[in-house]
Amino acid sequence: MSYETVIGLEVHVQLGTATKLFCRCPNRFGEPPNTLTCPVCLGYPGTLPVLNGQAVDLAIRLALALGAEVRRRSVFARKNYFYPDLPKGYQISQFDLPLAENGSLSLTRHHRTARIRRLHLEEDAGKLLHEMPGGGVLSGASLVDFNRCSVPLVEIVSEPDLRAPAEAQDYLQTLRQVLLYTAVSDANMEEGSLRCDANVSIRPVGSSTLGTRSEIKNLNSFRHVAKALELEVARQTRLVESGGEVVQETRTFDADAGVTRPMRGKEESHDYRYFPEPDLPPLILDAGRIEEATGALPELPWDLRERLITQFDLQVEDALTLTATPALAAYLECVASTYPGKPRTVANWLKTEILRELKSRKADVEAAIEPQRLARLLTMVDDGRLSTGAAKRVLTEIWDSDESAAEAAERLGLLQIRDEAIMSGWVRQVVDEHPRQAAEYRAGKHRVAGFFVGRVMQLSEGRAEPRLVQRLLRQALLHEDPMAAEDPAAEDVGSEP
Ligand code: ADP
Ligand code: MG
Ligand code: ZN
Repeated sequence: MSYETVIGLEVHVQLGTATKLFCRCPNRFGEPPNTLTCPVCLGYPGTLPVLNGQAVDLAIRLALALGAEVRRRSVFARKNYFYPDLPKGYQISQFDLPLAENGSLSLTRHHRTARIRRLHLEEDAGKLLHEMPGGGVLSGASLVDFNRCSVPLVEIVSEPDLRAPAEAQDYLQTLRQVLLYTAVSDANMEEGSLRCDANVSIRPVGSSTLGTRSEIKNLNSFRHVAKALELEVARQTRLVESGGEVVQETRTFDADAGVTRPMRGKEESHDYRYFPEPDLPPLILDAGRIEEATGALPELPWDLRERLITQFDLQVEDALTLTATPALAAYLECVASTYPGKPRTVANWLKTEILRELKSRKADVEAAIEPQRLARLLTMVDDGRLSTGAAKRVLTEIWDSDESAAEAAERLGLLQIRDEAIMSGWVRQVVDEHPRQAAEYRAGKHRVAGFFVGRVMQLSEGRAEPRLVQRLLRQALLHEDPMAAEDPAAEDVGSEP
């Protein structure tokens, strides 16, 4: 029997607010442990939470970008459980009445749209450390850092609509793009701003009921999501094929060992004793606020791609590569707006030279050569002043200096020779030296043209402008008696553009 994979994801996103969700502590990553805390986020008795409006606005923006319906009235609830990183003994979340419902996300690299069941606001918990901050063994003890307590999160719950581990990875990467384009979060997986729990089950192909699922926690990179799901699908398949049954449970992914392991039995929502948060009123949003947010939505990656494909004549694959982050796309648009040539040329340079250079420098596009300088460099290629190869050298040369492309090309002796008088001399020389090939050409064997171009390039030490070489050669071979032509001005058919 063959099986179909069914995956649904629960993604937690840290919102890029200035302060935490219910207090005024800064929302920042990487500070010394327990320096970003106050009586509210430490859950001291008698303190009261106050909802952060910026977090609400960011969550609304994200919900709208995902095509979800924002509820005019949503309710905070207490999710009760004990864990040492949770000083209050409960997490303030949303349960029955979440901020938004019924959205969707179309995958970037697969023909699949995953429905989004709900999107709600909640606070983060603290963090347990099992070694000393900065490294060092802690035997028989753990430390707790409360800096992350009450950092604002949005949880996005998909329907079980994904059908392969690669689709789950695509979903997450697409979602990350949306987060970056909407500036809702820095979506940094290593720093935990984007975290994913993956639910997965299998069922016989053709079946319409869901199989029993397991939920994998601790997936902190895109590759881990796909890898853990592949392992889990294989495990469930082996289990079912050998007559066993999948039990509903929570598993953890051990990337080093390359296995998923059972962590605990799956808790049910009644285990959490959810009840409406008595210290916060329901969140009531007036229509104006939602309308305003709708009007202020920035261009989303799929719309931008469509626009670049039509406006810049980009190929789909290039549009995908160059819209990976809004910063890269903005760079592309900026270069293209000052460059008089084809935007497609800019796209080709970005996806090869610029991305390669950034990679070798381990830098972000923010650190790339200024768009105007790149545009001038590309223009020199179009003018015939630089060969493409020479332009690549000039690029690395001027990347972090303030030398202009023209200056660097001059200094390095890379400017192409476009002087017709010099070039005609070379052309005549090679034609004279190879009468047999010249005769062949005149007899219609045009393939020998390549031979002549090669000889002229050699004489010029690679600096002759190839289009001019070709034009002069054609003239010399076809229209002239090579022994007689001594008047270069006579063939001056105008200078290059
Ligand atoms: P819970 O309330 O226990 O967290 P939900 O029904 O809310 O469970 O589902 C949580 C996530 O698990 C959702 O993303 C959903 O799409 C996914 N999911 C639910 N059932 C299955 C299943 N049988 N196989 C794969 N994913 C599932
Ligand atoms: Mg859940
Ligand atoms: Zn606080």
